[in-house]
Amino acid sequence: MEKIKIDYKGYLNELLLRVMQDFYKIKIPIDKNIDPDVRVSSAKRIWGSCKKVEGGYNFKISVSKICFDEPNYSQFIKNVLAHELLHTIEGCFNHSEKFKNYAQICAGYGYNIEVRANSKKEKTEEELFKEANHILRCNDCGKLYFRYRFPKKKGFLESLRCGKCGGKLTKIK
Ligand SMILES: [Zn+2]
Ligand SMILES: [Zn+2]
Repeated sequence: MEKIKIDYKGYLNELLLRVMQDFYKIKIPIDKNIDPDVRVSSAKRIWGSCKKVEGGYNFKISVSKICFDEPNYSQFIKNVLAHELLHTIEGCFNHSEKFKNYAQICAGYGYNIEVRANSKKEKTEEELFKEANHILRCNDCGKLYFRYRFPKKKGFLESLRCGKCGGKLTKIK
């Protein structure tokens, strides 16, 4: 079977242009000298990055291929690009208050710019099992609850009830 080759770079360059045009329209003061050629990265844990560069352009944006595995990846990548573009604004190279304020403005125009975006993929139960630090199971209906944190407070577990059937819960991890 022939594998379909995705033109990552062409796709990203076109999306970058579109997001930049949106930003000009709504007067988000991004840098005027951003490299229009997006770097395609293979980073496994970083969606995108924005680096200061020298010689011609002021900033270069990278986007990882893993973004293409996201559901609705076009929208997802637009949000990643928007995030990186905000970094080109003076005082926004970190996730400062100013950065967050611009992200807020963009939210009014359909952008969801998060400081740390999580994957929008639905996780399998196996993945949830691995990631969760605490797992509760309903004694009656068997529904599982995955938690990253769980208060040590005495009697806390006993005070909880299953959201589905009202049954008591047992901590299995
Ligand atoms: Zn950032
Ligand atoms: Zn239940």
